[in-house]
Parts: sequence; C-alpha cells; structure tokens
Amino acid sequence: MIGRSRLNIGKRSLSDAELQEEINRLERSLVQTRHQILEVQRRVSEGMGAAEGSIFDAHLLVLEDRTLLDEVIRLIQTQKINAEYAFHSVAERYATTLAAIEDDYLRERATDMRDVTARVLNNLLGLEEEVDLRRLKEPCIIISHDLTPSNTAQLDKHHVLGFGTDVGSRTSHTAIMARSLRIPAVVGLKDASARLETGQYALLDGYNGLIILNPTDQTLFEYGQLIKKQVSLEEKLRDIHLKPAVTLDGQQVFLSANIESPNDAAAVREAGAEGVGLFRTEYLFINRDLPPSEEQQYQAYREAAKALKPLPLVIRTLDLGGDKFLAHMPLPRELNPFLGWRAIRFCLQEENIFRAQLRAVLRASAEGNVKMMYPMISGLDELNQANALVERYKAELRAEKIPFDEGMEIGAMIETPSAVIVADSLAKRLKFFSIGTNDLIQYSLAVDRMNEKIAHLYEPTHPAIVRLIKATVEAAHRHKIWVSICGEMASDPVFAALLLGLGVDELSAAPPLVPPMKFMIRRLKLTEAKALAEFALNSESATEILARCQELARQVAPSLFETK
Ligand code: PEP
Ligand code: MG
Repeated sequence: MIGRSRLNIGKRSLSDAELQEEINRLERSLVQTRHQILEVQRRVSEGMGAAEGSIFDAHLLVLEDRTLLDEVIRLIQTQKINAEYAFHSVAERYATTLAAIEDDYLRERATDMRDVTARVLNNLLGLEEEVDLRRLKEPCIIISHDLTPSNTAQLDKHHVLGFGTDVGSRTSHTAIMARSLRIPAVVGLKDASARLETGQYALLDGYNGLIILNPTDQTLFEYGQLIKKQVSLEEKLRDIHLKPAVTLDGQQVFLSANIESPNDAAAVREAGAEGVGLFRTEYLFINRDLPPSEEQQYQAYREAAKALKPLPLVIRTLDLGGDKFLAHMPLPRELNPFLGWRAIRFCLQEENIFRAQLRAVLRASAEGNVKMMYPMISGLDELNQANALVERYKAELRAEKIPFDEGMEIGAMIETPSAVIVADSLAKRLKFFSIGTNDLIQYSLAVDRMNEKIAHLYEPTHPAIVRLIKATVEAAHRHKIWVSICGEMASDPVFAALLLGLGVDELSAAPPLVPPMKFMIRRLKLTEAKALAEFALNSESATEILARCQELARQVAPSLFETK
C-alpha cells in the first residue's frame, strides 16, 4: 500500500543578503520541475496517446501561474524566509480553497496543485520522488489516499494489478488514465487507505467497484470463472474482427472509430473499424509550447489519411475551450466555459489559427479519403461563415497551385438543441451530420458533463435526447445526407439497438469498444431495433427506456455482460 507521506518543511529566517539567491533557487527548482513534468508528459503521450499526455498541461499551468509565484516571491522578500516554506504555504492555501469548492473540476485542480507542489518541494529539498511506482518489486494492488496523474502515469503494468483510491470520481484524471492503461481501478473508496494494511490479500473488482479483503476460496473460484468468461469473450471478439458490422437481417452499419492522434490510425484497423468518424484535432494543439503550423498540421492529417486510405478520415476542426485548454495560449477565465468561447466560436474569431487548420485539412484531402466537420455549430450563421472561409482558402490554394480534393465532404457536429431545431437549414448546406451526444446531452438537459454531483441526471436515454436524435436523423435523410453518432453513446453496446432503430447510419466508437459494438450489431435484428426505438419515442421515462435497452442487449448478447 502506498500512502502520501507529509514532507517536513521547516521555516528558516534569511538575511537580506541571502534573499536574491533564495529567489534564484526557487526559479531553478521551477525550471527543473517543468522539465520533469514535460518528460512525464512525453512518456505518457508516447505510451498512451496525446489525450492522456495533455492531462499534464494543467500541471504546467500551475508553474506558469504568475499570481501564485509573485505571492511566493513577495513572501520570501517581506518575511525573509526560505523558498520551500513560502511556496508550501501559498500553494497549500490555494489548494485548500479549491478543494473546498463543491465542484469536481475545481477539486481536481487542487489535486494538480498539490502534485506540482510536491515536485517543487522535492526539488528544493533535493529529495528523490517520494513514491517511485516504476520500481515495484512484486505484483501488487496499490491502495492510496490519492494517486496523482504523475503517479498513475508511472505505473508499471507488470507489477500493478490494480489500484484503489480514497478520493476521485469517474471523470477524475486518474480514472481516465486508468481506463486508457486498462488497469483495473476503484476510486472514491473514502477511508480505504487508512483501513487497509500493506501485505493484506485483496481482490479488486474494477467492473463493480469492489475491494474484497482476504477473499474466501469460494469467492476466488467465482472470480476465476469470470476471468475465464472474459478470455473467451475476447476470443469471440477477435473472431469477428474482419467481419462486417451487419445485423442478422442484413442491415449494414458503418462502424468507425474516434482518434486523437495520427498514431492511433493503426489501432483503428486493428479494432476492425471501417474508418475514422472523429479525429479530435485539439490534442495536436494542447501538448506543445506553440500552436502547430499549417505545415505541421498538414503532415499530421496527411499521415492519418494515408494510413487509413481508402477508409474515410473525418477530421473535426479545433474544439478548444470547455475543458480543453492550451498551455501556450491561456484562454480568459469564464464563468461557464462550456457555454463560452469554445470550438467554432473560437475559430471564427481566431482567423489565423482557423486558416492554418483549414488549409492543412484541404491539402491533406489530396492524399486520402478526407472529410471535415465543424464542432458545436449552433446556427446557420456560423455554418455560413465557416463555409465562406473554406471557399476563400480553396481559392488561395488554387491560385498557389496546391492540390486538394475539390469535392471534400463537409459536415457539422450536432451538439446543441438549436442545431437540431434548425437541422433542415444546416442539412441543405452539408454532406453529413455527426451527433456529439456527450455535448448534446449536457446542453439539452442542462447537466454539466464533468460534474459528479449531478451525474445521475446525465441520462442518454432521456426521452428528449431520443427525440432530438430522431429529429436530426429525419432532417438529414430528408436532404439525403448521412448521420453518424460519435459521442460516448456510440461506444456503449447497450445503446446500439436504440441508435440503429432511430435510423443512424454510422456509429463511431473509441477503438477498444469497436469490437464489442460490432459483436452486438451482428446479433441484432433491425426489426427489433426499430421496435425498441418506437417504444422509446413513445415513452415518458428515461429509466424505462434504459431498462428496455439493457433487456434487449443482455438478451441478444449475454456474453458481453457476464463479467459485470
Ligand atoms: C461529443 O460532444 O459527443 C463529442 C464527440 O465531442 P467531444 O466529446 O470531443 O466534446
Ligand atoms: Mg463535443
């Protein structure tokens, strides 16, 4: 078991002559910390992907927080005290304030603040990192009060069988990391780290969020059976890898994957997907000191397009803001960032950034089956403005004799209720829709997708969501364009029948979830999917719709649920 020990930070008085050197020492430790974080970020990005690496942007931002740093320096100068004591007292005050706020997102910032503070203090005190999870000697379960993203990034999959933490929620960075690393984890165990002891035997069940101490032979036997079932399911999923996503009664479904980096293109083919339904380009922007140039973006999009060719690659234009920020371009703090300067709104005002991206996408379209879509369109004006810019950049490229695909298809994400309501106007001007249910649910139900307190209200089967999806599909089909879903709903086999029954043409899932989605589709009949959708469209209850979805899913593909 690994706990967080408290550093002993003594207060030392300094003479006037020592003050400047103390500030220099602080600055050196900040630079050293920055290098360490960039190194962890690089390892995580290479090993797990840009999305996970970007988690450390929040840590880098702490080191760039001038208000905090100026306050530390002022304290050293006015109180004539040592840097570690000054840094610790200011940073801890910030962290305590953030931790006390009833908001999961801000509480995570407190964890980030403490993670960075521990590094700075270790560097000032010349200490090794307190917990080195790369040097575990035997297989174990880690139980800790909290496990920071940096700790989690270092977990050695050969030795860490699983981990549990007292604090955290499903949306905490640590939980996100665990999912990417595919390490079983249980978060939010309250006082487990105080109650469990090193050397105890435990069984960790990440599916059901359980830790069983000193499991009996019977329990071990039952879990052994579950593991066997899981292995046999994985074999079944491998068997259908190259087979089409087609229902028992012959309805072909286009099953694609969501990616965050050109490096993920290989995983798309391995997962048995038929293309990329969503390339989240913001991760190209987040993990670096400067925004990527047109040329750098062109290379990235081209690499993905070539790796996938002839399979389609849908590139989404930049969706910054909300919960995704840039270290090199801090956005102004907003009261409601998800309702603020985000996605297409940001791009239409930051024309240089948008121009570089649009030209890069257009150029890459000459090299593969590239399509492009805009995020968070809320009305026709935005669409017209964006399309006008595309026309302008096409004219530039023509004049420069740079090749691009004149017929590159352009679509829009349907993520706001207003976009659904004006879907007919949008459909006339586009080649496809892609429904972003993650945002559509949060904006339609007014439920922040990051907030654990109201997570029970975040209901994908809410009758309003079912009807919004249906309205989008109808508008698209009236204008003979196709509709995809690329939000998390399309990664959950429980919802496959409902979405097919509502008439969606394509589902785009996270690569590890493509095989279970295909497995489910191949066991469904379009007739029963349509009946389920009909039921859902007439229902008044999210719970009732969810229950019907679960019932059908378990009935047609029970092996997908046997380990849960
Ligand atoms: C969505 O909102 O459903 C979506 C796919 O976009 P993101 O999760 O990147 O906001
Ligand atoms: Mg979205």
